[in-house]
Amino acid sequence: MDCIFCKIIRGDIPSNKVFEDDQILAFLDIQPISRGHTLVIPKKHSDNILQTDEETLATTVKSAQKIAAAVMKATGADGFNLTVSSGAIAGQTVFHLHFHIIPRFSNDGLKSWPRSESEMESLEEAAEAIKIALAS
Ligand code: 5GP
Ligand code: ZN
Repeated sequence: MDCIFCKIIRGDIPSNKVFEDDQILAFLDIQPISRGHTLVIPKKHSDNILQTDEETLATTVKSAQKIAAAVMKATGADGFNLTVSSGAIAGQTVFHLHFHIIPRFSNDGLKSWPRSESEMESLEEAAEAIKIALAS
């Protein structure tokens, strides 16, 4: 398959691996947002978090928890963001499910997401629509 992360899993493309077992690979992001920025991926290909099966997702998240603790310890980070983007509009550029572990440092200069004020009505509307979608 012509997927860059599948190629990394197969060893066709080199990477800075930090963890590997039969189901999971973790390696450093080639364009790190901060020092120690690590990607955690399941070896079983799925394009995104919605496509992946529950068991693979659970294993990936458990591994991300373990690896994030190690990244914190190794980098001396003050915190971290665990993020996953789904869809090009959300910034996804590689369509093989991956979790980013982005260490955060008190002086890293990275901005958090912008927030907006919300009308109570639009919150209620959004909540209703999601509840209906979940029930269908
Ligand atoms: P996304 O933008 O899909 O959320 O994340 C994809 C990430 O993969 C990016 O942060 C990008 O820097 C990283 N990436 C893309 N190609 C390679 C590669 O060949 N090797 C490594 N180690 N990381 C890559
Ligand atoms: Zn893949």
